[in-house]
Amino acid sequence: MMNDHRRLGRDLDLFASDPLSGAGLPLWLPAGAAARHAVEEYLRELERRAGYQHVHTPPLARRDLFDLSGHLGYFSGDMFPPMPLGADDEVVLRPALCPHHALVYRARGRSYRELPLRVAELGGMYRAERSGVLGGLSRVRAISLNDAHNFCAPEQVGAEVAEILGLIRAAHAALGVRVAGFRLSLRGPGEKYVGDEEQWRRAEELLRAALAGIDHTEAAGEAAFYGPKIDIQVRDAAGREFTLSTVQLDFDKPERFDLSYVDAGGKRRRPVMVHRSLVGSMERLFAYLIEEHAGAFPSWYAPVQVVVLPLDDRQAGPAAGFARDCVHAGLRAEVDATGSLGARIRDASRRRIPYVAVVGPREAAEGRVSLRQRDGRLLDPLPASAAVDLVTAAARPPLG
Ligand SMILES: [Zn+2]
Repeated sequence: MMNDHRRLGRDLDLFASDPLSGAGLPLWLPAGAAARHAVEEYLRELERRAGYQHVHTPPLARRDLFDLSGHLGYFSGDMFPPMPLGADDEVVLRPALCPHHALVYRARGRSYRELPLRVAELGGMYRAERSGVLGGLSRVRAISLNDAHNFCAPEQVGAEVAEILGLIRAAHAALGVRVAGFRLSLRGPGEKYVGDEEQWRRAEELLRAALAGIDHTEAAGEAAFYGPKIDIQVRDAAGREFTLSTVQLDFDKPERFDLSYVDAGGKRRRPVMVHRSLVGSMERLFAYLIEEHAGAFPSWYAPVQVVVLPLDDRQAGPAAGFARDCVHAGLRAEVDATGSLGARIRDASRRRIPYVAVVGPREAAEGRVSLRQRDGRLLDPLPASAAVDLVTAAARPPLG
């Protein structure tokens, strides 16, 4: 298949796998890492503007944490086995960030004035996926999740879910994600769930209200073990549907971790925990984006945004100077000086680089560059500083 992200990932040097590192444990090469870094920075800034606070928590913890959270009881089939540590302790690679974020919440007392408290992290977690389902970036065993847990007073949950759906839409528009559909994921028969009937009913009601007016399907058996969720689905190049973004309601973990806040009347109350991911894991997101854009990412997260081509050795100085100006302006730029101009332009097009800057003798003498866009359009020669500004403006993530 032409747009298979594994083939494009190899051709564009985005990521690699190695039998020594193991199946489902891909390596992000410099080009893939540059694109991912740009996306991570954008997400952090989008979240910061929306009132999120970012934290760092470790990808493993004592087994007691996951006994308390319910993961070892309900989710151990997807987890790596606990590792012994000393005589009477065990540590576990986490399958989710929620338990750590519950600990962040209760690291000190909380007041109603702090709610919704939005704890965000782009963090590592691990799933013991069977080797048969692994492939490229779409199913991996080491996952980097764009995650947050929004701790709300019960009466804030509806507005919070609506706000999260707005952020998801903004992230999709910026990244060029095409949504295949919204899904309300509910409990199914024959599976294990925590929490009582009343909690599930309330959570389902709140999510149904948030989806009012949005075309969606309902799927029994797709809920998390602790609560129902809204899943936002996309399709890969082979037409398979999978979940990219998700919003989940959880009344159970606040009970298990005995989370509380003091309300306006001085009474101790239980918050609701909203789990949300705007775009899922970096791995699955990029598996999707590589296929969706056939490797030609929007310029703001293209691995290299501008490649500078001196016509011959005599323009080496001005070409290097222009590339340096681009780098200092925050762009990812490089110089390609070897081979015929035609071959270098073809190579830039093969690599889907958004801008090619050609520096010939005339441009060099006048302090100008000629820009060529990815769609083949040629712009009139511009003063070098104007060219830097033009590319920089086009390479800004759309934060609004
Ligand atoms: Zn969570």
